[in-house]
Amino acid sequence: MEFKLINNKDFFDGLKVGSCIDSTEFEEVKVAANEAFNLESAAKTQENSKGATANTTGTFTKSNKDHKVGIIRFKPFKDLDFIECAFSTRLGGVSTGYSESMSFCYDRGDSRENVLENFRIFSKAINISPDRLVYSKQTHTTNVLYVDESNAGMGVTKERNYDNIDGLITDKKNLCLVTSFADCVPVIFVDKKRHVIGSAHSGWRGTVGNITRNVVEQMGQKFGTKPEDLVSFIGPSICMDCYEISEDVAEEFKKAYSSEEQKHILLDKKNGHYQLNLHIANYYNMLNAGIKPENINVTNICTCCNKDLLFSHRGSQGKRGLLCNFIYIKQ
Ligand SMILES: [Zn+2]
Repeated sequence: MEFKLINNKDFFDGLKVGSCIDSTEFEEVKVAANEAFNLESAAKTQENSKGATANTTGTFTKSNKDHKVGIIRFKPFKDLDFIECAFSTRLGGVSTGYSESMSFCYDRGDSRENVLENFRIFSKAINISPDRLVYSKQTHTTNVLYVDESNAGMGVTKERNYDNIDGLITDKKNLCLVTSFADCVPVIFVDKKRHVIGSAHSGWRGTVGNITRNVVEQMGQKFGTKPEDLVSFIGPSICMDCYEISEDVAEEFKKAYSSEEQKHILLDKKNGHYQLNLHIANYYNMLNAGIKPENINVTNICTCCNKDLLFSHRGSQGKRGLLCNFIYIKQ
């Protein structure tokens, strides 16, 4: 399994990012079909223990074959032993067609049953139960929500009680923040002193609106997080070469960033179109929020350059599923 990699060193030439570029790794985790969590069966077993007569022998798995779940890991988070962080690929799920195969998208040409099965398989691969996941409800806002035990399972095994939430933070152990992507930028945060985590979806709107600042501010207000204690990650998402934008979007970035910053973010093609570097724009958001440059880490994997292995909105003209980032504080 080989990813086509971005040469980030060229893009970041002259910027202070130290050793934090090229910090993604790939691994495959084998999950046998009968190893996937079986919530129906678990629920029935509970009923049984209360004297009900439900049948516990029928297990819910769509596939008989083992799943090789493809996982991207962020090296700087692997060094933090209290954190599990995993980014999905298209590999190892049960969805078919343009959602093939590990998609977490409920509303684009896939069945809810398939998405839930994918959650079960991926959860198993990262050693957490699906009813401990909390799935954002993203609509390109800059809204960030603190979630706790009361939110466990929301968006996966039970209905959400929130909407228009593009960022999640928590201090609860074994509660997994799930945010979804298909070219937009994952921005992930770990307070290594206070053991608090944050995860957000930062597309161009979330970048211009600076959802990163909202995450850092809310972690500060709620937990006393200091930016200098944060380790952050800019995850797999569309690269500058793949991301052409129109004048009106470029204007938004000109308003939001200094002229020096714009030199690294926007490439004016002088034909009414620009190439946009969302990775560097989010790097500036993190830097301007007070995170130390040596603690800001950037992927070298573009979703659009790797559309066979990852979902890319641009690369598929919108016919795509969704990737997710999963992060939780270990028990
Ligand atoms: Zn690319």
